[in-house]
Amino acid sequence: MQNAFNEIFEYVKELIIIDSHEHLPHREDAREKDTDVIIEYLAHYFNRDLISAGLSTEDFQRVMDPDMPIMEKWDIVEPFWNYSRYTGYGRSLDISAKALYNIDMISRDTIEELNDSFKKSLEPGHFKRVLKDMSKIEVSLLDANLECDPYFFRSVYRLDDFIYPKSHRDVAEIEKKSGIRINTMDSWLEACEIVLDKALEAGAVALKSGLAYDRSLRYDRVTRYEAEQGFNEIFKTLNSPDWGDKPFDVGKPFQDYMMHFVLSLANKRNLTFQFHTGLQEGNGNLIYNSDPSLLSNLFLEYPDVDFDIFHIGYPYQHVLSALAKNFPNVYIDMCWAHIISPAACVNALIEWIDSVPYNKITAFGGDYLLVDAVYGHQYLARVNVSKSLAHKVEEGIFSTDEAKHIAKALFYDNPKRIFKLT
Ligand SMILES: [Zn+2]
Repeated sequence: MQNAFNEIFEYVKELIIIDSHEHLPHREDAREKDTDVIIEYLAHYFNRDLISAGLSTEDFQRVMDPDMPIMEKWDIVEPFWNYSRYTGYGRSLDISAKALYNIDMISRDTIEELNDSFKKSLEPGHFKRVLKDMSKIEVSLLDANLECDPYFFRSVYRLDDFIYPKSHRDVAEIEKKSGIRINTMDSWLEACEIVLDKALEAGAVALKSGLAYDRSLRYDRVTRYEAEQGFNEIFKTLNSPDWGDKPFDVGKPFQDYMMHFVLSLANKRNLTFQFHTGLQEGNGNLIYNSDPSLLSNLFLEYPDVDFDIFHIGYPYQHVLSALAKNFPNVYIDMCWAHIISPAACVNALIEWIDSVPYNKITAFGGDYLLVDAVYGHQYLARVNVSKSLAHKVEEGIFSTDEAKHIAKALFYDNPKRIFKLT
């Protein structure tokens, strides 16, 4: 095992890769400067492990204050950091600290030195060092920002506000983006198409929906009549005071109708559609809302749309295995997953190689707000994929040369083709 792993990993660690999903600042000069390493590293993910381990949300809020001294912060988070440091989130940060700043382990002894080095990294050039020079990322798909720096990113656009508008603020935003006054359902649909085409003109390469945070992934086929009844709810709160947010509830049938409408637009424009499925970031949500099998009717009804299913559907990775095996238009995306659970990724890939054609799998998407941790994540992804492939070599399924060929497909050729990148 070790020999096969070493040989495969030596190759995989040098691969130029494509990153299917990020939330990084859209340009390096948009980074927050009034910060420290605790604020940056606890912006998401690992903070959730600390809270899950027992850190109170009040104490978490306190350590996010840029004026609190770093050691005072460490005193608060230390026990929970130590409980959590072996999770994928924790390991990703330790791997990054070592590679970027030569810090052996983030601890009481190193946190001040790490903070000093981190603050120096706020100077220009750090993005290139981390993303290009160290992580060897050719390009990253950036979630929901059309003004991204093309040296690093291509944008992926969301039409979720058209599917699930929640208040008049959303409607006003849509009127502004589209240049259309919203007063009928037809104007809503027209605005949706205009905004999508503007996004494509501005360089967006794919669509994404993150609505599994808010509702079930089951989008039923409903009549225009049912949808329009929901749409009309928008106008029932128009008379509320103009200093309020004027919320409304368009209801599930309207949302369902709009998802089908958006997919019909994606279909016409040959756009790949990224779907959040599986674990929701945060501390508490309804995991059963994000089971990828709830999308099955969409897979059947939109056979020409390529569905890129995020986060291995964790913890529904076996369900996703069946879906990707069955549907020619369903692809597995391992973004975020290598840090959610490294072991789940290694085991899932061992299973998928047995069940799913390997041209259906994208191996890496950093999914981070913080640039440093992208290094740790891609490193874990390269290790995990190498482990799974070495396992198959040991089983006698293929040679190490074939393992390298498959690794390149997962990290580069597949995403390039699935996202139609040129
Ligand atoms: Zn994401």
